[in-house]
Amino acid sequence: MISLAIQSAAEESGMMPEPQLKSEVTAEDQESIRQSVRQLCRDFPDAYWREVDKNHEYPEDFVKAVTKSGYLAALIPEEYGGAGMGITEAGIILEEINRAGANSGACHAQMYTMGTLLRHGSKEQKLRYLPKIASGDLRLQAFAVTEPNSGSDTTHIQTRAVRKGDHYVVNGQKIFISRVKQSDLMLLLARTTPYEDVKEKTQGISVFIVDMRNVRGKLEVQPLDMMVNHHTNAVFFEDVEVPAENLIGEEGQGFRYIIDGWNAERILVASEAIGDGRWFIDRAVSYSKERVLFGRPIGANQGIQFPVAQAYARIEAADLMRFQAAAKFDRHEKCGAEANMAKFLASEAAWEAANICLTTHGGYGFAHEYDVERKFRETRLLTVAPVSNNLILAFVGNKVLGMPRSY
Ligand SMILES: Cc1cc2nc3c(=O)[nH]c(=O)nc-3n(C[C@H](O)[C@H](O)[C@H](O)COP(=O)(O)OP(=O)(O)OC[C@H]3O[C@@H](n4cnc5c(N)ncnc54)[C@H](O)[C@@H]3O)c2cc1C
Repeated sequence: MISLAIQSAAEESGMMPEPQLKSEVTAEDQESIRQSVRQLCRDFPDAYWREVDKNHEYPEDFVKAVTKSGYLAALIPEEYGGAGMGITEAGIILEEINRAGANSGACHAQMYTMGTLLRHGSKEQKLRYLPKIASGDLRLQAFAVTEPNSGSDTTHIQTRAVRKGDHYVVNGQKIFISRVKQSDLMLLLARTTPYEDVKEKTQGISVFIVDMRNVRGKLEVQPLDMMVNHHTNAVFFEDVEVPAENLIGEEGQGFRYIIDGWNAERILVASEAIGDGRWFIDRAVSYSKERVLFGRPIGANQGIQFPVAQAYARIEAADLMRFQAAAKFDRHEKCGAEANMAKFLASEAAWEAANICLTTHGGYGFAHEYDVERKFRETRLLTVAPVSNNLILAFVGNKVLGMPRSY
């Protein structure tokens, strides 16, 4: 049994479990992670998420509990206080959170961003931030990439970071940046060389860690009224000073670092979608067996049963692709095709499951107390963010199939 599994005794005593990962994570370890995450999520039932969603609140207690359990530090190496797990186990954690009816969107960015910091951050940066992130003293939950004038076309970002002595001065605007107010640190993508001055469009972009606890300059955060409870904002930078020591890796190479992290992110999103899909199937199946009309349970009708079975089959297929991508990632093999296809298949399958779950519930699917409409909104997001499925198909068409490029 993996030591990261919740150790309630340690928690009761207020002590964090000492993560000691075995060199090989076995199937039993993974099952044990599933059971532990399920156990943790039982303390946060549907009513908790309904309330948080209704009031547009941040699920603070839930995020604290997941942090305390050590699960949010799954990808942080043991030497920095984390569990040193692979993307396979990190995916299982997010899957189980979503499968329990919870929304890992409240805290997943800490896993999404980890690849960039781990692979390209300096030893000093890792020592400065990772142990505190692992212990929950610091939150890295904000990841600022998207801009109003560039959207999916990331290399056209306009936010500029200009070096002035021992710091960079940042000016620009980001849109749809989630959890900024709930985070201490933000991973920021900015241009250090203007687009017009670079030979390759991917050059001249850099990644910074912005410590939002003591910002010099003006960092304005304007909450956006969104369909999902994601604490999403427009962010304006006016002469914000970022110490040069907070540049990750080499100046101008940031796009490559972010791309490196994208495969991990795609696998994690696929896992969340699979968790959602299984939640929808569970709910659709149990409701369809209970609701009796025309003298028989509605689940006996092919108009209900077959679409549920079809969505189930698609989720199981996406799950295979997810694990294939994750296994390759954890073996440090090329996995761009599998990671992208897993994200596409899983988010589409979850959306299909969401639709049939809503259909199965009839009018009750629209009632907040059934939670279907909440999860319906949440899972739809995964087809658009953090990357739109069209861009995934464009990647597969171009990079895997060699068709002409549109992006
Ligand atoms: C709730 C929420 C939270 C978010 N959180 C964050 C965050 O924390 N940090 C962050 O940086 N961003 C965040 N985003 C932004 C998200 O990543 C973007 O919305 C997404 O990448 C798409 O960009 P866009 O909205 O500008 O759409 P656009 O890029 O304008 O695209 C619009 C449509 O055109 C399609 N399209 C564009 N080009 C092509 C092409 N070549 N071929 C085919 N179709 C194409 C797209 O697929 C899409 O369907 C969030 C978004 C939402 C909704």
